[in-house]
Amino acid sequence: MAKILVTGATGQIGAELTLALRERYGTDNVIAAGHRREPSGTLAQTGPYCSLDVRDAAALEAVVTGHGITAIYHLAALLSAVAEEQPLLAWDINMNGLLNVLESARKYRCQVFFPSSIAAFGPGTPPFNTPQDTVQHPSTIYGITKVTGELLCDYYAHRYGIDARGLRYPGLISNQVLPGGGTTDYAVDIFYAAVKQRHYDCFLRADTQLDMMYMPDAIAAAVQLMETDASRLTHRNGFNVTAMSFTPAQLAVEIQKHLPDFTIGYTVDPLRQGIADSWPRHMDDSAARAEWGWQPRYDLPAMVDDMLRHITAKLRNK
Ligand code: NAD
Repeated sequence: MAKILVTGATGQIGAELTLALRERYGTDNVIAAGHRREPSGTLAQTGPYCSLDVRDAAALEAVVTGHGITAIYHLAALLSAVAEEQPLLAWDINMNGLLNVLESARKYRCQVFFPSSIAAFGPGTPPFNTPQDTVQHPSTIYGITKVTGELLCDYYAHRYGIDARGLRYPGLISNQVLPGGGTTDYAVDIFYAAVKQRHYDCFLRADTQLDMMYMPDAIAAAVQLMETDASRLTHRNGFNVTAMSFTPAQLAVEIQKHLPDFTIGYTVDPLRQGIADSWPRHMDDSAARAEWGWQPRYDLPAMVDDMLRHITAKLRNK
């Protein structure tokens, strides 16, 4: 029986992934580990919950042994914009946290899921149809921790036989927990502003094209990859996955199809624009499609329709 630990469980991905895993593997078999922040009511009410700093190796090991953990979805990290403000802290959390997870996995033979990012690429990477295997020379501390994380996971797989797997997520769009300080956060913020004020002031330039994905697809991708028979995988970590690729201007046009009086303006934040400019525009995710059947369900129109319905209902019920 699988016993799963989710670190960073109160975050944008973790809050939804934990519930999806509980539905799939049973409530008591999925332990949500938050950090300092109080858990959302739902997480604490629907199954086991603990507070854990992933930099604390002994505390992590105690959770793994205490619950007989067989798989760790390691989501705890600092994201791109926050990491750039505090590079040393980002290195500490993103790298030492991952090392502690891999060491626990090595000692207690756990499977590991590690989410990498489009940030693992850099300005020298081909920006269109970015290949699965290509130049990875990121210029941000976040990207450096992600490419190092991919390499470490591969190392633990080859050296110790640890079943570590991972994806390169693009910007993720969701409607439950707000994003935690990434460069693609605009693609979530815009929906709240559109429903509330019919106007959004975007911190990226109108023509900044980036890969994106709706959260239901992001969760399905993680679960599908982790459940794939290992014999099908040529790669293990850092699978390119994308569902759509658009600019702020294109997203605004799609929102205007539902809210014709919506307007968008631009006050560019140089930090986040610089980060976005160093990332690819559109990845080639054919390796994920071929090796484990990756297939997104939501394109831009379907995502916008669903987001607007959820955010409108959420704000109405507040
Ligand atoms: P998030 O910021 O919403 O959540 C991260 C969580 O980590 C937070 O709940 C935070 O409390 C926790 N955390 C921070 N420091 C910690 C520590 N020392 N110990 C334990 N927990 C700690 O991020 P997210 O969007 O849910 O991202 C989860 C993972 O997916 C991260 O590794 C991120 O890099 C990756 N990712 C996210 C996106 C995206 O668009 N959201 C895209 C690509 C990759």
